[in-house]
Amino acid sequence: MASGIDFPIVPSALLNVLKIKDSAEGYLLPDVGYEYADLEPHIDEATMRLHHSRHHAGYTKKTNAALEAWRKSGESAELASKPIENIIQRIDDVPKKWQRAIRNNGGGFINHAFYWQNMSPPSDSNAQREPSGNLGERIKSTFGSFADFKKQFTDTGTGLFGSGWVWLVEVPGSSELRILTSENQDNPMSQGLKPILALDVWEHAYYLKHQNNRPSYVEEWWKVVDWRKVGDILTAWNAKQ
Ligand code: MN
Repeated sequence: MASGIDFPIVPSALLNVLKIKDSAEGYLLPDVGYEYADLEPHIDEATMRLHHSRHHAGYTKKTNAALEAWRKSGESAELASKPIENIIQRIDDVPKKWQRAIRNNGGGFINHAFYWQNMSPPSDSNAQREPSGNLGERIKSTFGSFADFKKQFTDTGTGLFGSGWVWLVEVPGSSELRILTSENQDNPMSQGLKPILALDVWEHAYYLKHQNNRPSYVEEWWKVVDWRKVGDILTAWNAKQ
């Protein structure tokens, strides 16, 4: 349960990296930052288009609708007035009437923003396909080696039953890194954690190209994960407001 959790501040630097923007009409669909075809041949254009312009757009639209209805009701107005990232952190405090809609759609809205920003086109000459520096050291000291980390993360993703996500998170107040899963569109921020790497294992993320072969999708996904961008997310989490 959420009570008693000391939730970390979500710095504006993180929202900038994730391309999360609010507007008078509600939240905007976060930009991917590259073209749908740019992750080919690892993630195909048709999947990217469907995933972003239909699925992510749907979560965005439904998040706005749920927030609007909740805010109009006047119930739990203090929490309702907060930005979506703070509401997701305190999801257990959202009134029951809107909690499921906000958990699923608000989570989907935020989760996909992480997913797009963890990846870069194979042609990106600045990309880092393996972690380096401080993050690289921490991965080694926690998991043994990058290969061990990758295996554990992959096994966690291929072993997850049904729809959900695999995450690498930092535990606030320590330098501990942890691999965990979430069901449906839940986000580790609801447990007071700082997610930095997100793998979507919903079938909509891979079915067009890989059918039911999730391991094949995960293998291709690793080829576009950019540790420079994962590091930017970690840096943004720990930025001073
Ligand atoms: Mn998805």
